[in-house]
Amino acid sequence: MQVNPVRGRLFVLTGPSGVGKGTLVQQLRQSHPDLALSISMTTRPPRPGEVEGQDYFFVGRPVFEQYRDTDQLLEWAEYAGNYYGTPRQPVEQALAAGRSILLEIELEGARQVRKTFPQGCFVFLLPPSVEELERRLRDRGKDSEAAIQKRLTRARPELAAAGEFDFQVVNAELAIALADIEQIWGLQPPTP
Ligand code: 5GP
Repeated sequence: MQVNPVRGRLFVLTGPSGVGKGTLVQQLRQSHPDLALSISMTTRPPRPGEVEGQDYFFVGRPVFEQYRDTDQLLEWAEYAGNYYGTPRQPVEQALAAGRSILLEIELEGARQVRKTFPQGCFVFLLPPSVEELERRLRDRGKDSEAAIQKRLTRARPELAAAGEFDFQVVNAELAIALADIEQIWGLQPPTP
């Protein structure tokens, strides 16, 4: 009998909206195809080009509330007027199978996960400045002005919480931030 089964590691990337979490996650997955990614559930409507089951599971509030109220979410939060949550089962299955899994979530969710998985490895991603964060949110052109304002309002208290996490990485240059995260998480950089 295996007394101490090999378990995967839980990686959590958090930080304010627009800081570049999504881009970093894409790059990490390209370089480390074995790394599983948790697909979140959200009540936010899909943006153009977003794919169901790939970017998110897009659901209505009643479905989300049913998942939440039956303990099928590892964490959840209301963010800029919509619900977001991490389905519990895929995360637990990946870890039990010895597969590492990555969660890309906002601050409230990251705090909840830290309570249930204190052994997880948490990175808080920071922008070089609040002005730069605002510029990135506008330049990506994904959100309405109202949504951008909600995200910016939320960003200030989020940034103030960066020190709650063991590791902070400033995303000034993508390649450097990526290398920092790979080092923190002990991911071997891909061979050229
Ligand atoms: P967006 O609407 O831009 O896709 O996401 C808004 C924010 O919600 C981002 O900061 C993103 O990281 C976060 N988020 C995405 N999925 C989850 C989730 O499952 N749980 C929580 N707590 N936040 C999430």
